[in-house]
Amino acid sequence: MKSHYFDIIVLGGGPAAAATALGMQRLGYSVGLVTQPRPFAALEGISQRVIEGLKGAGLEGSLEGLPPESPRQVSWNGQTNAANYETLVDRTRFDRAIVNQLRSAGVAVYPGRAEAVTEKLDGWSVVCKGVAPAFLSGRFLVEARGRSAPASGIERFKGPDTLSLLHYWHGPVCQPFSAVESFEDGWAWMAVGGNGCRYLQLTLDNKQTPIPAKRDLPRFCVSKILGLEQSARFIENSTPTDQVHARTSASVLHEQVVGERWIRIGDAAMAVDPLSGNGIFQALSSALVAPAVINTLLVDPQAVVMAKRFYQQRTQQLFYRFARIGRDFYQMESRWQDRDFWRTRAIWPDRQQAHADPQPGCWQIEPHPVVDRDRIRVADVLVTPDQPLGVWRLQGIELAPVMRVLADHPQPSLKDASVRLENLLGLDRQQAVQVCRWLHTQRLLS
Ligand SMILES: Cc1cc2nc3c(=O)[nH]c(=O)nc-3n(C[C@H](O)[C@H](O)[C@H](O)COP(=O)(O)OP(=O)(O)OC[C@H]3O[C@@H](n4cnc5c(N)ncnc54)[C@H](O)[C@@H]3O)c2cc1C
Repeated sequence: MKSHYFDIIVLGGGPAAAATALGMQRLGYSVGLVTQPRPFAALEGISQRVIEGLKGAGLEGSLEGLPPESPRQVSWNGQTNAANYETLVDRTRFDRAIVNQLRSAGVAVYPGRAEAVTEKLDGWSVVCKGVAPAFLSGRFLVEARGRSAPASGIERFKGPDTLSLLHYWHGPVCQPFSAVESFEDGWAWMAVGGNGCRYLQLTLDNKQTPIPAKRDLPRFCVSKILGLEQSARFIENSTPTDQVHARTSASVLHEQVVGERWIRIGDAAMAVDPLSGNGIFQALSSALVAPAVINTLLVDPQAVVMAKRFYQQRTQQLFYRFARIGRDFYQMESRWQDRDFWRTRAIWPDRQQAHADPQPGCWQIEPHPVVDRDRIRVADVLVTPDQPLGVWRLQGIELAPVMRVLADHPQPSLKDASVRLENLLGLDRQQAVQVCRWLHTQRLLS
């Protein structure tokens, strides 16, 4: 088996792996990436924010051929709302486009299964089993194998047991559309892709709902799907297949997500409830800071502890915020709060608010770690009850000097505050107005 050496070895080829691999390559590191395709077809919904994130990460190739936004209907707590839109992504095509983009950017991609990942005195070795088996060694390891990444002995904080059953139906080609609907035992996400394939996904609690044996799953899914109000539009003139793919979809946070020579990113670090429809966004969000964290660990021994703490706390904070937002959404479904599925999710992970209420005058300027281009360093940031890790910059403008200027002149009107920022900090009018408006929404400026 051939042996290949890289500065960085990346395991996995989803959005988190790809954005990190490109980021590390841009910083001048050699990157070897091992990935095997997902073993099942799936559609997933993404927002415009994710599309912007993919472009920002250099993954614009993954957007080629994406359908335009399509309507999404939400039926929750007995009410139906049709005001939503999402872009439906065919994950097989999307993941293939990501890997092609990595190849054309010069990342060494090894198609195959990463096995036998071993830490050595001077780095890592990975055996890749594939069409062309290879042996990779490297200095730093990025674990990005999504939900299937092994825990590697790390403790995990898990939400209620959750399983998503994805049942495929075939029908006539039509414009893409999707819907979410709650029911007694869980919720469903239904979507029609451009090729006429229907994806009917039931999310259930596999401890509380008896899930039948594999061969009986299609019949089980059909019976649940027929009971859904929204399903008629999806299954009209369509035929159920005998294919059901089961995906575990519980929320999971790894209690340790970074070491001196390794990092976990995307779902391998924290996987959120698919109800949020935010998994790809979260994966990109961790991948966008990962290159600065890894670079700091590799080049700045003085900053290692701080960089690790920064990434660890950021991951935990994001996880809990999303878990609490999900909990509040489950609470909004009041019809079945005595059913285990709804009762357990309406109180998990805790009773803390997802967003702390803004309180006038309740802020501080404190030194905290921030991402400054390719490094993690300490800077003065604005800390509020809702942003305990602090906000360093808003659209490129540092907030600590802004708050100091405004604190020297108590109770200014929005207009006065804006003029002061122009005169004393040299911001242009548009910047000053934007910052003041944001501070106003946070109740930091009246
Ligand atoms: C039921 C369900 C529905 C979802 N719906 C949505 C949605 O609508 N919108 C949304 O934004 N998110 C959704 N998500 C979440 C989304 O799929 C993930 O959050 C996102 O893909 C995570 O990206 P990632 O790069 O961390 O991992 P992944 O995208 O999972 O990528 C990991 C990659 O590693 C590869 N791999 C795994 N093991 C190995 C190995 N041993 N060797 C080599 N390669 C390996 C996998 O094949 C895969 O390609 C959903 C999740 C679930 C469970």
